Amino acid sequence: MNSKLSLYNSLTRQKELFVPINPPFVGLYVCGPTVYSDVHLGNVRTFISFDMVYRYLKYIGYNVRYVRNITDAGHLTNDRGEGVNRIESQSQLEKLEPMEIVQKYTVGFHDVCRLFNLHRPTIEPTATGHIVEQIEMTKELISNGFAYEANGSVYFNVNAYNEKKHNYGKLSGRNTEELIAGYRDLDGQDEKRNSTDFALWKKASPAHIMRWPSPWGEGFPGWHLECSVMSTKYLGKTFDIHGGGMDLKFPHHECEIAQNIGVTGVEPVKYWMHTNMLNFNGQKMSKSLGNSILPLELITGNHPLLDKGYSPMTIRLLFLQSHYSSESDITLKGLQDSEKGLRRLLNAAQYLETLTVSDKVDSDKESEILQLVDRCQEVMDDDFNTAKLIATLYEMASQINVFYNDNKKCPVSNDALVRFSNAFKGFLFDVLGITNENESANTDTLDKVMQLVIDIRKSARENKDWSTSDMIRDALKDAKVILKDNKDGTSYEVE
Ligand code: AMP
Ligand code: ZN
Repeated sequence: MNSKLSLYNSLTRQKELFVPINPPFVGLYVCGPTVYSDVHLGNVRTFISFDMVYRYLKYIGYNVRYVRNITDAGHLTNDRGEGVNRIESQSQLEKLEPMEIVQKYTVGFHDVCRLFNLHRPTIEPTATGHIVEQIEMTKELISNGFAYEANGSVYFNVNAYNEKKHNYGKLSGRNTEELIAGYRDLDGQDEKRNSTDFALWKKASPAHIMRWPSPWGEGFPGWHLECSVMSTKYLGKTFDIHGGGMDLKFPHHECEIAQNIGVTGVEPVKYWMHTNMLNFNGQKMSKSLGNSILPLELITGNHPLLDKGYSPMTIRLLFLQSHYSSESDITLKGLQDSEKGLRRLLNAAQYLETLTVSDKVDSDKESEILQLVDRCQEVMDDDFNTAKLIATLYEMASQINVFYNDNKKCPVSNDALVRFSNAFKGFLFDVLGITNENESANTDTLDKVMQLVIDIRKSARENKDWSTSDMIRDALKDAKVILKDNKDGTSYEVE
């Protein structure tokens, strides 16, 4: 593997060469959604960023195990730091069972993933599927002296952890006072020995529906525990990359590190990656702030910000035009520019298919296009700089347009044209994950038209109107569409 990939490690606060623990295998864990509501475009930005990371790691040859969890249980904190169980609150609101809420929004999340062309993770574990392991980890933390039971709940003891020369707060860079201020989890405060301690296991109140038996009575796991358990269960006690949005650095990821070190004594993660937030009018997009845009609102245009609907690929390209660690803002102008840019790139991809080499090779031109090819990889190796990659693809698109308008001839060697073409398509489609939406729209239209034709032919045959049915078959054959009759009905194939 001759990759020179470097990435910014949030733990060491510097850019580092990416050296996997066990190449060519790479373990990637990303915090997934809490399935209590529809995901908004802010969530989508984070998942697109890690989809791109996963795609690029695969593109440069790694064998990636990509674990992204579903948070379907757990004691969570809201934006004000108060203890709430979002899934149960939502189930009361919608008058559904908590697991119906989980099912509804997990399915919705998967639909959104498909819409934005996100690869599926290789493992998608759920918190409720790992209650046994979470209880085991809590027991180990108690026996290692890093946790204590209080009134049927179990808390992580931050002081005991720091006394062992561990450093709670090292990821988020917070000192003790900031930690105390940042951890205003009032629920169960008086049971805790210190306000910085956090819940590993919570006793269920009589009204609580999602509950499991444990050595400490019936209850449910703390939010941070699931990710400690599931990441190390599938990727090992130290794995390569852990990702999530910046807002998860504290307390979620800080707590994950403490829990893992409390059990194994070693750092769980070699590289921590945090993506920046999607803002709307300068404020983090969030459901609780009431400033979120849902994918459906984007597509239909049914939102006060939007002048019309925009396609999922337009937003995917727009997000990737900012580096993952920079803030991104949704604006009408940004969407309009991205829509134009997308068209330009997709047209170029189409033109590319028609190009052939000319008799003469212009060596300057050849080295110019090969430099663009190399640049694609260089900028991606520099901490996944998709902003610079897209700028490079635009330059390549301009070059393609020049060739296309010059009789579709390229004054370069065949080998150079193949490399150029593979790079353009590989980085646009495989790495950035852009798809040709028009192509799939055409396929949909054809499907619908063909169904109509097949139905007309069927009814002609039922009426023994053989001349109409034969005419349809022959006309389709001329158009290189072959009908296939079988016991389940009639299907078609384009030759
Ligand atoms: P949640 O379901 O709230 O746990 O969020 C799922 C993921 O979306 C987490 O990785 C969050 O960091 C991320 N996220 C939430 N809001 C935003 C936002 N406005 N911009 C980018 N990522 C976000
Ligand atoms: Zn997590």
